[in-house]
Amino acid sequence: MLKRSIHNNIPVYRFTGLGSCSHLVHFISGREGGVSRGGQSSLNIGFTEEDKRENVLKNRQLLLSEVGVDLSTLTTGEQKHTTHVEVVLENSIGCGGRERETRLPETDALITALPEVCLMVLAADCVPILLYDTERRVIAAIHAGWRGTVGKITSRVVARMEKEFGCNPKDIRAGIGPSIGKCCFEVGEEVVEIVRKNLNRWEDLVESGENHGKYNFDLWEANRRELTEAGLCSGYIEVARICTVCNRDRFFSYRGDRGDTGRFGAGIMMKKKC
Ligand SMILES: [Zn+2]
Repeated sequence: MLKRSIHNNIPVYRFTGLGSCSHLVHFISGREGGVSRGGQSSLNIGFTEEDKRENVLKNRQLLLSEVGVDLSTLTTGEQKHTTHVEVVLENSIGCGGRERETRLPETDALITALPEVCLMVLAADCVPILLYDTERRVIAAIHAGWRGTVGKITSRVVARMEKEFGCNPKDIRAGIGPSIGKCCFEVGEEVVEIVRKNLNRWEDLVESGENHGKYNFDLWEANRRELTEAGLCSGYIEVARICTVCNRDRFFSYRGDRGDTGRFGAGIMMKKKC
């Protein structure tokens, strides 16, 4: 479940399970409380073509000061709907934090074992997913649109956490954030074809839509299942179940706003243990 809290006019959403982990900071931002105008109104934290860099920076600062994260540690990927996973080491801390040019190229998922480094993904209908291994102390942030989902980016991240950090999936807690829901995510035959090829028990993930030749694709369940198949305990996976199109007063939605929109963020950071 996602809990909303508001301070200084900036709402912040947090998962209850991840929220109970000590020495962990995580957040999902909304669309209210920032300085951007127009379709990006108002807490746009993505360096989009439509918004001014100074607005985005201001919004990031407003948000990060609410959640206790230093902008110099904020690290993001380019997010090109790839399945590329990057492990963030010392030399890439802060990439994409202050400007779009330094975002980690062609990267849609970030992992780190470094404390005091905030990994963030941006979304406006795509699925943001946060992971935390409480034993090995490793975090990940994933951007999974339909391409990432059918490319199994989520289980690729878990596999990488196992391989590089010796994580046991049973120790990993996960939060699947707000994104376009099955209610609103209509896709064509060509997408269903790929779902059918790539995902197990695909029949439960797509449903015939209201319009002829159209289907509704359940990204939440696809990613939840991906995590359980990777070995996570069901009880450790939280799904926000908030559709961004249906709730575009609270979250940015690319489809809901017909492209003229901003981005909200899902971030995660481990604090140093005292
Ligand atoms: Zn919806």
